[in-house]
Amino acid sequence: MKTLHAVTSCLSDYDPDAMPLSVAQAVIRKLATPVAAVEKVALRAALGRVLAQDLIAPLNVPGADNSAMDGYAFDGAVLSDSTPPNGTPLLLNVVGTSFAGQAYAGVVAAGACIRIMTGALIPAACDTVIAQEHVEVAGTAAQPQICFKPERIAPGANIRRAGEDLAAGSVALNQGRVVQASDLGLLASLGYAEVPVRRRLRVAFFSTGDELRSIGQTLEPGCVYDSNRYTMYGMLHRLGVEIIDLGIVPDQAAELEATLRTAAACADAVITSGGVSVGDADYTRDLMARLGEAVFWKVAMRPGRPFAFGRLALDGGPGALFFGLPGNPVAVMVSFYQLVREALLSMAGATARPTPLIRACASIALRKQPGRTEFLRAIAQRNTDGNWHVAPTGAQGSGVLSSMSQANCFIVLAHAQSDVALGDTVDVMLFDGLI
Ligand code: AMP
Ligand code: MG
Repeated sequence: MKTLHAVTSCLSDYDPDAMPLSVAQAVIRKLATPVAAVEKVALRAALGRVLAQDLIAPLNVPGADNSAMDGYAFDGAVLSDSTPPNGTPLLLNVVGTSFAGQAYAGVVAAGACIRIMTGALIPAACDTVIAQEHVEVAGTAAQPQICFKPERIAPGANIRRAGEDLAAGSVALNQGRVVQASDLGLLASLGYAEVPVRRRLRVAFFSTGDELRSIGQTLEPGCVYDSNRYTMYGMLHRLGVEIIDLGIVPDQAAELEATLRTAAACADAVITSGGVSVGDADYTRDLMARLGEAVFWKVAMRPGRPFAFGRLALDGGPGALFFGLPGNPVAVMVSFYQLVREALLSMAGATARPTPLIRACASIALRKQPGRTEFLRAIAQRNTDGNWHVAPTGAQGSGVLSSMSQANCFIVLAHAQSDVALGDTVDVMLFDGLI
């Protein structure tokens, strides 16, 4: 296992007092290794879980050539062999019907066709389907016929080929995939009743601060309800991890140490809020030195500057990664999304996918100091001109959670960026899909 020191000492631009966000993310990425244990779960229970192995298609989907529409199937050779003079329609006898799940059992001779429904098997002698809306029904009740212009259809049209969705033996889904609704359907189409997934990541968290009270307790002057534990619950729940809520811990070394020990003994990752700002950090630092190792960064981002990262390694156990988030409610969320979320997904075994950014036009000018990444709570919308426009919403203080609730995105102003003029294009990280 790599030590933190080994990782940070390789970085040429390592400055714990002004850590570029991208460098902090890179260090964390190096230490986030996936849990090894695998379990088999019933197909529905795999929703949101991480696949532990590549899943191979045991059969072709579709299993055989079948019709892509309701229409008529025939041998496409008739289109070229006996092309009638231009403008003359082709006439075929209808000799039977093939339904989905009830194939036509007879023979289709040259010059004949069958009525065929979507999903019905294509008889051996046929290779082309014409949609019913492209034919005229002719003939008699005893001998129905269809009539159509041959130039309306190409040989081989409107057939779903065996294996064109998934070929037997091919990889249907890769390990590391977080199973989605479409994947459940795909696995069902292959007959998978059970799926191997990684065991759920266990994440413990607690809030620190003498001023914090739980809902239901009396709020003495100067005290606040602990909101971070609820925000954290919401963010972790969305990731599908097992959540271990260890409550509120006062700013007191002995209690902090006991809670960190409990957390490290039962979790793969431990998240705290508060206690990493200037001054506070000192005793967290002493504690971490005793319980494992940690680095304390002032990450060059806003909100969310103070941040601690490390490993709790107790009694030769596997240990847990430690993320010490700042206390301010919005800083908690921004640090979680930028520095913790990806690590937890990697630890859960999920293949990392960069968070999508869109480009939007700034509806107002924005002040920005180069040298830190800034995240502004904002509302982005697509205007009638078809372009995305974005403007910050509400007060941007790192304790103002209401503007986080109003927002539908972050405006992301990159490390080196300076002021943004009205109408400039900026990066936007939409909340949909992220939270
Ligand atoms: P700290 O980082 O501990 O100095 O906290 C910074 C600010 O965030 C202070 O105003 C705290 O009262 C507030 N704060 C810290 N933890 C929480 C919490 N769990 N819920 C709500 N506010 C908090
Ligand atoms: Mg505090």
